[in-house]
Amino acid sequence: MFDIDAIRNDFPILRQKIYNKPLIYFDNAATTQKPQCVIDKLVEVYTTYNANIHRGVHYLSNKATDETEKARKVVQLFLHAPYSHEIIFTRGATEAINLVAQSFGEKFIHRGDEIIVSEMEHHSNLVPWQLVAERQGARIVKWPFNQNGELEISVLKPLITEKTRLIAVNHVSNSLGTINPVKEIIDLAHQHEVAVLVDGAQAVQHIKVDVQQLGCDFYVFSGHKIYGPTGIGVVYGKEKWLNGMPPYQGGGEMIENVSFEKTTFNQLPFKFEAGTPNYADTIAMAEAIKYVSAIGLENIAAYEKELLNYAEEKLRSLPGIEFYGTAHEKTSVISFNLHGAHPFDVGTLLDKMGIAVRTGTHCTEPVMQHFGIPGTVRASFAFYNTKKEVDGLYLGLQKVVQMLA
Ligand code: PMP
Repeated sequence: MFDIDAIRNDFPILRQKIYNKPLIYFDNAATTQKPQCVIDKLVEVYTTYNANIHRGVHYLSNKATDETEKARKVVQLFLHAPYSHEIIFTRGATEAINLVAQSFGEKFIHRGDEIIVSEMEHHSNLVPWQLVAERQGARIVKWPFNQNGELEISVLKPLITEKTRLIAVNHVSNSLGTINPVKEIIDLAHQHEVAVLVDGAQAVQHIKVDVQQLGCDFYVFSGHKIYGPTGIGVVYGKEKWLNGMPPYQGGGEMIENVSFEKTTFNQLPFKFEAGTPNYADTIAMAEAIKYVSAIGLENIAAYEKELLNYAEEKLRSLPGIEFYGTAHEKTSVISFNLHGAHPFDVGTLLDKMGIAVRTGTHCTEPVMQHFGIPGTVRASFAFYNTKKEVDGLYLGLQKVVQMLA
């Protein structure tokens, strides 16, 4: 499918040894590693054209501005958004959701209204809606998932009422790996004139996204989960909503004219980008998107699916293993527990073998409450991982089973 050795060579961190053992990095759902081209891009920005953007008359400022606006275009094409001014840069998916929740909420959610939130959301796609509901006097309606960790349209249907204003749902669950039927969700919501925010933080690095084909009102993601830098994220929003929404934060850049009596606001997207933007990471995120696109998301998805199937098959033979999230459509995430072992202990023992996994609730406490467990061990694979590394995890878990017996 692609040259895995060449790919791994692009990621300098993977050459490391941890406790004198080759690093096996299976914490990709928390953050992904960075290819050399992304690291080089950051160095290039800071060593050759660093300058504050949009307000300069000098060469460096114009160059940094051009590169930032080119990056916006890269994101627009990546999501297949109709216009580049529908792409707003934020600090990450969390800030992106907070922006929509606060701004959309202030204008379009009122006393007695309802916001449907799925039971499998990351806290960052639940708590901002709770805050808005509290402030506006609205109500959160839970959309529960089934025992496989799937969201069913038949369960959603009766939850939509004339009071529903928005549905908040992830494209892919970070703790279960479920790929949700977002197109069907959006089509159903729009029949009732309900807006949909799709949290794509766990999707864009695995699935080709087309916001026009999906028809979503808002789509958000984080740069650091798609092999880009931390501290940068994206809101795609339909122009018709964004134009009607009040600014999220006040400050420089987002204004047109300011006096002590009255301020008028800048046009899209700048209305939502107060202050000096994180242009360096924006430019480097675009580099990451180009890198991933060159490999091809279809190739990445096919390779990761192979890794997932291989890993599930292998791990299934371990005594006392229980999987959480067995959806038909999944990305490369395995959430599990070993009978009688606390996930934290499993993770700590694996760490000493050079294997990085995540343990705990994965910022999805309602998911853990659903299953009645304190947390899980989560191994999440990227396209630079290998079957040999999966074998390493399997052997590591065999040792853990013996040690904890
Ligand atoms: N949504 C999902 C599904 C996530 O997995 C995450 C990160 N774990 C977020 C939102 C929040 O992303 P960030 O922390 O980068 O803002």
